[in-house]
Amino acid sequence: MEVIKRTAEMQEISLRLKREGRIIGLVPTMGYLHDGHLSLIKKARRENDIVIMSNFVNPLQFGPKEDFATYPRDLDRDNKSAESVGVDYVFAPANEEMYPQGYDTYVEVKGPITEKMCGKSRPGHFKGVTTVVLKLFLITQPDRAYFGQKDAQQAIVIRKMVTDLNVPVKIITCPIVREEDGLALSSRNTYLSSEERLQALALPRALSAGRDMIMKGETDPQKVRLHIKQMLESSPGIRVDYVVVVDGDNLSDLSAIKGKVLLAAAVYVGKTRLIDNIDLEV
Ligand code: AMP
Repeated sequence: MEVIKRTAEMQEISLRLKREGRIIGLVPTMGYLHDGHLSLIKKARRENDIVIMSNFVNPLQFGPKEDFATYPRDLDRDNKSAESVGVDYVFAPANEEMYPQGYDTYVEVKGPITEKMCGKSRPGHFKGVTTVVLKLFLITQPDRAYFGQKDAQQAIVIRKMVTDLNVPVKIITCPIVREEDGLALSSRNTYLSSEERLQALALPRALSAGRDMIMKGETDPQKVRLHIKQMLESSPGIRVDYVVVVDGDNLSDLSAIKGKVLLAAAVYVGKTRLIDNIDLEV
């Protein structure tokens, strides 16, 4: 495995691999790898000749009051994990490599899919995400790129960017990996105290309760949403940011529960913001 820090070098390697006819899979991450990240890498390993994992905490996607400075980082440990699951190249640029002085170009998907949910709570977040992801695509030249359903809205926004800009990359969304007790794996879980870690279980539990309502025949999205919201609001240590029950393809509002449905929520547990979702087909 090679660790590449320069954008020019990464792009040269990727373009050479493409010329040689190799199929490249990219797994973009912000590092501090857990089994969720590793599941994406393993799938990329099975489906491509070359696997590139990017490890970059992208300052553009953090708000001024968010956790960019304190986001957990451990490049050495990440490199060992990445190598153990067969990554060929880790691309780990410094901020100045990605955004040198005078950097001025941004990619933004406009409209409701970036304005609701996390887009509403984190203004500018998805603009930061689409900008870095398109840059990573141009630097690493992937045939396929792997994203987690954990960030369901992110995956939908990236699909939209790729469609709108005719980007020749196949976007592959992978299922959420959870702890045994149901909490979705996240690098931010390291912020939780042991008490908060227990309180955080309210999030997957409330979403599961919403899914159970639908399985039992509830077709009113508002009733399901309210039930999830009330469960979260009555859980100790939890502050609700948002709860939605929306179309799983494009996040639009539903008049009735049918087809692809996404139950998604964001909550604060203490100071830590956690997101989770369940998608289902009715
Ligand atoms: P991050 O490093 O948090 O930006 O995540 C990098 C990629 O891993 C994103 O596509 C995430 O959606 C994905 N990911 C994060 N957590 C999980 C998880 N628990 N299960 C599956 N994928 C995940």
